[in-house]
Amino acid sequence: MNFPKWIKRDETNFIVVHSSLTKGSDDEGVESMRSLHMRQGCVDVGYHFIIRRNGVTDLGRPIHAIGNHCPQVDEQSVGICLIGGGDKNRKAKAPDYNIPQMESLAYICLSLVRIYPEAEIVGHNRFSPESKCPVFNIPDWWSEVSYELKQLHKTIHADQFPLFDELQKED
Ligand SMILES: [Zn+2]
Repeated sequence: MNFPKWIKRDETNFIVVHSSLTKGSDDEGVESMRSLHMRQGCVDVGYHFIIRRNGVTDLGRPIHAIGNHCPQVDEQSVGICLIGGGDKNRKAKAPDYNIPQMESLAYICLSLVRIYPEAEIVGHNRFSPESKCPVFNIPDWWSEVSYELKQLHKTIHADQFPLFDELQKED
């Protein structure tokens, strides 16, 4: 098999979340997206992850490769695309993502920040405000996810290790 001519990325400062801006009843996966992007002249699908309507995540480019999803930061970012968010004219409409999609997004972001601790999680609209992509506020969403995770962590530790709270008070 001939692999595409991916180029290795040297730095990863952003995890950029996108939306396909397709209507909620339409699903799309990596294969159709890859052929579309390649017809447009890319070496491969532009994103690293594509999250389908049922939450299943398709792998796009390898995470170490430079993507093609946000020209301002392609050389320093990983790109994730949620399927949905738009209307029949591919215009931003509403964040109509399903719960499994949002769970997958959280899971991927949590994994990526472990691999790239310096990376900031942002929406495409940070670099391209007129696109409105991905149709919701990523920094707000991410701080909620991080907060809930911290609470969960505390709860687990408090149950399993009754002294954990005491130990925490000491430092
Ligand atoms: Zn986008």
